[in-house]
Amino acid sequence: MSRKLIVAIDGPSGAGKSTLSKALARELGYINIDTGAMYRSVALLSLQDGIDPHDPAGLQQLCADLTLEFVRSNGGERVVANGVDVSEAIRTPEVSLLTSKVAACPEVREAMVTQQRKMGEQGGVVLEGRDIGTVVFPAAEVKFFLSASAEERGRRRYQELKEKGLEVDLQQTIAEVEARDAVDSERAHAPLIQAADALVIDSTGMSIEAVLAQMIEVVRNREQNRH
Ligand code: C5P
Repeated sequence: MSRKLIVAIDGPSGAGKSTLSKALARELGYINIDTGAMYRSVALLSLQDGIDPHDPAGLQQLCADLTLEFVRSNGGERVVANGVDVSEAIRTPEVSLLTSKVAACPEVREAMVTQQRKMGEQGGVVLEGRDIGTVVFPAAEVKFFLSASAEERGRRRYQELKEKGLEVDLQQTIAEVEARDAVDSERAHAPLIQAADALVIDSTGMSIEAVLAQMIEVVRNREQNRH
């Protein structure tokens, strides 16, 4: 009998995690949890509330008061923070850069990881982020680490932002992707690293469909072989 699993998808920004984890969750009938959106919500609210990204006590209090929900609607999956739909507001370049700063704060990570474990512990979930297979669910049954060259990731992010009607510059977007990689990889607390038992997929030059097909096959095999 096949069982519902915990699937972890980690990797740097622009590697295709969001698109692939949503598609994979839909295909498997699993719930998709975008942990980046959670850190982004903390960053947005800290900006709105005037909390300094280097003020751990202020950020800790913000996280303690924070209610986060993922709501499915006609417009896709919406992110609701303290009752307000923040789906678009958390995607601006300003919030993206600030997110890496607040996500480096141990108090913020502890609060988010606790929420993520609660959301995922029953299984039947795809969680995407940076530390899912290493910290949040080190015993996840399936772990993917998605990567792609910085240039390709920057180009994808540029397209994404342009399609949303934002004014962006390609070279600047690539530079921002690289800057965010550096902060995420070099932070002391839960840096972006591959879990030793993760399946690494380099999606440079690969279509989304090809990567998705590979991921579905891996999860299905694991579902069948789990006792
Ligand atoms: O995945 P996304 O680009 O939306 O993530 C935004 C930021 O949130 C990342 O650059 C990273 O700083 C942070 N993040 C994290 N841990 C996660 C998910 C995201 O630190 N599990």
